[in-house]
Amino acid sequence: MPLQIETILCRAGKMDNYSYIITDEQTGTTAILDPSEAAPIITKLEQLKLKPQYIFNTHHHFDHTDDNLTLKEKYGALVVANQQDNARIPGFDIGVENNKTFLLGNSIAQIIDASAHTQGHILWYFPEAKALFTGDTLFNLCIGGLFEGSPQQMFAVLQKIKQLPDDTLFYPGHEYTPHGAHDAFVFNNRNQDIQNYLAKAKANLEQGLPAGPFTLAEEKRCNPYLQAQSLSDFKKLF
Ligand code: FE
Ligand code: ZN
Repeated sequence: MPLQIETILCRAGKMDNYSYIITDEQTGTTAILDPSEAAPIITKLEQLKLKPQYIFNTHHHFDHTDDNLTLKEKYGALVVANQQDNARIPGFDIGVENNKTFLLGNSIAQIIDASAHTQGHILWYFPEAKALFTGDTLFNLCIGGLFEGSPQQMFAVLQKIKQLPDDTLFYPGHEYTPHGAHDAFVFNNRNQDIQNYLAKAKANLEQGLPAGPFTLAEEKRCNPYLQAQSLSDFKKLF
């Protein structure tokens, strides 16, 4: 089922979060993923004449959940997050679990446990739309910090991501491409794949657009954390 995905930059120039408006086109059912900052999200919803039924969270950090309550109150939207994080997600209504699904209208979201950045971090994967929302797990050319998990856990999560179809587009929780470019240069050769990747990112950013989205195929060629083939290689990146 086709999805309409709108990317909204929040906390611009500070934390550079991305919130997303996700709409199932057949039914118009809409969710806000990780509402970092209400004002720019509300502006975009009004432009698009959309009212969200759901708020999805990837993890409990404040920069992803701070305006759960504002949007819940304004629209009557239900907050959907990992059941195991119910005590630390503001406004928690509906629990989801690893390997289970959640229906956004006619679009199926698969929930993938990604405990590493935090325990209970989840990925929202829409297989038919080939869209993966990675929160603070996978960014362009880099990964999220290990606040509550181990390198071993993160390595295992990245192997799950690498098994998803190559043409999946991924939507990260922050615009961290410049930081990722630094990591890619430190750990990789400055090969043509990375040059192409950065040229695309730069062209998009110069137009005021998000750097991506990139496909998992592009990411596997360029992101040093996805290129590590073993846990011991992965640990050398820290
Ligand atoms: Fe986070
Ligand atoms: Zn974050």
